[in-house]
Amino acid sequence: MYVVGLTGGIGSGKSTFAALLVERGAQVIDADQLGRDALRPGAPAWHSVLDTFGDQILAAGTMEIDRARLADIVFADSRRLAALNAIVHPVIFGGIADDLDRLRGTDEIVIVDVALLSETGLDRGMDCIVAVTTNRQLRTKRLQRDRGMTLSQIQARMGAQKPPEELEAMADVVVRNNGDLEDLAREADRVWAELERRRDAAR
Ligand code: ADP
Repeated sequence: MYVVGLTGGIGSGKSTFAALLVERGAQVIDADQLGRDALRPGAPAWHSVLDTFGDQILAAGTMEIDRARLADIVFADSRRLAALNAIVHPVIFGGIADDLDRLRGTDEIVIVDVALLSETGLDRGMDCIVAVTTNRQLRTKRLQRDRGMTLSQIQARMGAQKPPEELEAMADVVVRNNGDLEDLAREADRVWAELERRRDAAR
């Protein structure tokens, strides 16, 4: 198993790039997905979030946490963000560890897709770090177009993440995603060959 930490700020194209690497043979562990699973109704973290934030964060008439509302609350207040992270991060870390245990001893290249790689200390367990970076204007445009986010929502989330220059400085491999999707697919070919080379050299 060769473990690759994939990082990048919101809207940089990190998930799109992870999907391109899966097409080329990678296994992926998606921290966002683990976080969503953690907040499913009835899960332990769901109970803790309700205790901490109140049932105002449930979507009207359901037991589902309204993730957009929760995000608006925590990205406006760093203490509340820390409180949410204290509940959800341990569950995400546990999920990542379980998936890595399952893949240990195989020849797989495993992509751990996680926005806050160094902030959470997860970078220390990686064999290699890939950063996907994109200029702010393009990220903003893509998030407005594809996810219907408002400018203030985008700015709040970007403000809680490391700037692209810092991500690039900590990465072994940098992918600049300022072109179109065909450019990104070409980058995926390049990076996949590089990851195979590094995996084989580490054997
Ligand atoms: P992240 O996971 O980093 O938040 P995503 O991979 O979800 O970002 O990408 C954000 C949005 O931008 C998605 O809708 C995606 O389809 C789009 N996108 C990503 N890369 C490109 C690109 N090179 N050209 C056009 N759209 C892109």
